[in-house]
Amino acid sequence: MHFQSLLVPTSRPVPFTAPSAAPFTAPSAAPFTAPFTAPSAAPFAALFVAPSRWTAAVVWASAVLSTAALAQNTGGTTPIAPQRAVADTSIFAPLALPAANTFRAGSGAPGAGYWQNRADYTLSATLDTGTTTLKGQLVLKYTNNSPDTLRYLWLQTEQNAFRSNSLNSFIFPQESRFGARGFEGGNVFDKLDQLLGAASAPKRVTVTSRSQETVTRVDLAEPLAPGKSATLDMAWHFLIPEHGADRMGRDGALYELAQWYPRVAVYDDVRGWNIEPYLGQGEFYLDYGDYHLSVTVPAGYIVAATGALLNAAEVLPATQVARLAKAAKSDTVIRIVTEAELANGSARPKQTGRLTWKFAAKNVRDAVFAASPEYQWDASSYKGALAMAYYRPSAAVNWHDAADQSRMSIQEYSERWYPYPWPQISAVEGPISGMEYPMIAMENKSEDTYDLFNVVTHEIGHMWFPMIVGSNERNYMWQDEGFNTFINTFAEARRYPEKGDQMARAKEERNQVTTFMTRGIDKPVDIRPDRIDPRMLGLSAYVKPSVGLQLLREEILGHDVFDDAFRTYIKRWAFKHPTPADFFRTMEDASGRRLDWFWRQWFVENARFDQTIDTVATRTVGDTLEVAVQYGNRERGVLPIRARFTFTDGTTENFVYPAEVWSTNSVFYVRQYTFPGKKLSKIELDPDGRLVDINRANNGWPKGATAPKITP
Ligand SMILES: [Zn+2]
Repeated sequence: MHFQSLLVPTSRPVPFTAPSAAPFTAPSAAPFTAPFTAPSAAPFAALFVAPSRWTAAVVWASAVLSTAALAQNTGGTTPIAPQRAVADTSIFAPLALPAANTFRAGSGAPGAGYWQNRADYTLSATLDTGTTTLKGQLVLKYTNNSPDTLRYLWLQTEQNAFRSNSLNSFIFPQESRFGARGFEGGNVFDKLDQLLGAASAPKRVTVTSRSQETVTRVDLAEPLAPGKSATLDMAWHFLIPEHGADRMGRDGALYELAQWYPRVAVYDDVRGWNIEPYLGQGEFYLDYGDYHLSVTVPAGYIVAATGALLNAAEVLPATQVARLAKAAKSDTVIRIVTEAELANGSARPKQTGRLTWKFAAKNVRDAVFAASPEYQWDASSYKGALAMAYYRPSAAVNWHDAADQSRMSIQEYSERWYPYPWPQISAVEGPISGMEYPMIAMENKSEDTYDLFNVVTHEIGHMWFPMIVGSNERNYMWQDEGFNTFINTFAEARRYPEKGDQMARAKEERNQVTTFMTRGIDKPVDIRPDRIDPRMLGLSAYVKPSVGLQLLREEILGHDVFDDAFRTYIKRWAFKHPTPADFFRTMEDASGRRLDWFWRQWFVENARFDQTIDTVATRTVGDTLEVAVQYGNRERGVLPIRARFTFTDGTTENFVYPAEVWSTNSVFYVRQYTFPGKKLSKIELDPDGRLVDINRANNGWPKGATAPKITP
């Protein structure tokens, strides 16, 4: 405890007057060969306490005190101002989370009374390629597992975004990604009935509805009591936009249909009905259920969709059916439909009229499809799950690899985090660049196979977040995009190790975050996506949360503890609806570390990070080198200290201190060391660039011995 007296309390600085003995002259800049001049007879402790007390106080004071406060505390004439009430503003203060309750436990797990509602759909779509119109019919069985009686349901009618004068068309420029671009589409209901009574002989009642852009309220014909189901029977149609905000659309004869049927919104214990409109950036929040999907298209079309294909024998020639069966047992790619077979017509059972493709999916939160008369089709499999790719000949140069990329993606995420639970995964090529739906990953031709894998493995990573872990994307984009970006670094490193291991990829992301922080334009992560400046979306919702998880894994919890906690989160919340608090709590509960400070600085606030070497004092007693170092923290954020001492004989020693060393004094931290037979050459902070630091110029001693610069 030699340096306890150095630790000046942050709330009441010790006033300083010039010490009677001359202090060190700029010790941090002093070369090693000119150690301090205190008498050698002085006891070691006294030696350090006396002079460096002042040095520390000066450095610290200049960093944190305002001139006024200094004047007050150094015997000025102004009396000390009455104390104002100040709450615990420390980065380490307990983070205020919603109180735990019967639905969501204090451990972060679903509580004993956890519930979520269920939405089972029987869907049918007819694609009219002449008028580019989709006509749909559905029967929705909505089960109310909540303790509340529901008198109305809210449906998402998101095609209403794709027309002039929609809310998103006002918020975003017309020609932008989320702009309507002058298209006049929109959802038109042709039938909206509730079926009452026995399923065998239902009574049909037309229900009233009120559309507010992308959400529509449906007033139930009778109240829906807890534990009961309501059945709605709907028909609708809409003009298919060419440009559906990069989430759906068409390109010539190719269609990618999502946001295509009225989907029931989520009613949950946290916010009741989640009625946030679809504006573009915020994606989806949907309940789980079983789906039956029928897609009727011209006979020449090949359809990829959410679910398992039920009627292969009706929509494919026998050769293709046999190849599919073979692919289901193959870990190498089988060409199901080749370009030549498309050209000569042998890939289709008939050339005219229509065919209906039937799919079924269990425990998913949405169902979509893509259809094209030009789709080549490849398939492989991983542990019985088909991994498929559908692409036009114009994209074949890159997409020949896509089925294998899909296979490797589900293998990677299954082995590391949670087993892939569905019967297939499909990568589909088309105008939509980078979009995910259950069992479907959409991407365009791509620049090359690296670029293709980058997107394909990202969209397939979404099968884990948010398709398995069903968080609320419209409110907490980072909980799916950020987590997914993080797991993608492992997939990328696995497929293309020559382009960098996982740490190298994580470092690239960390440098991006550092650049934004250094420029002072960094934003807090936990902002609703529709309120994020589109230019900041990639950093805030993808890269920054990914870097946060990486820091937790590499620098704070360690691989084993982090991986176990993260898997615990996935397992606890698979097919459920976790909130950020459930994530924070689970990570603490499973890891055994309180992380209020980390959640606050990385997800809630936009803390910056700047560690320094403030002061170094050295002397030699006999042949033993004694060193005292005052480490500094110049910004609000705290991270572990990673210091490397290099000696004149070329040897090095590393010292790592956990971030919690900043908990009693977030501004400086002092350690002393002895090194028998050594002479110190330099000290560096974070020499390998593992942490985030917005100013590395102050990371070295003597001055200039800084860690390698990370160029913004
Ligand atoms: Zn994504």
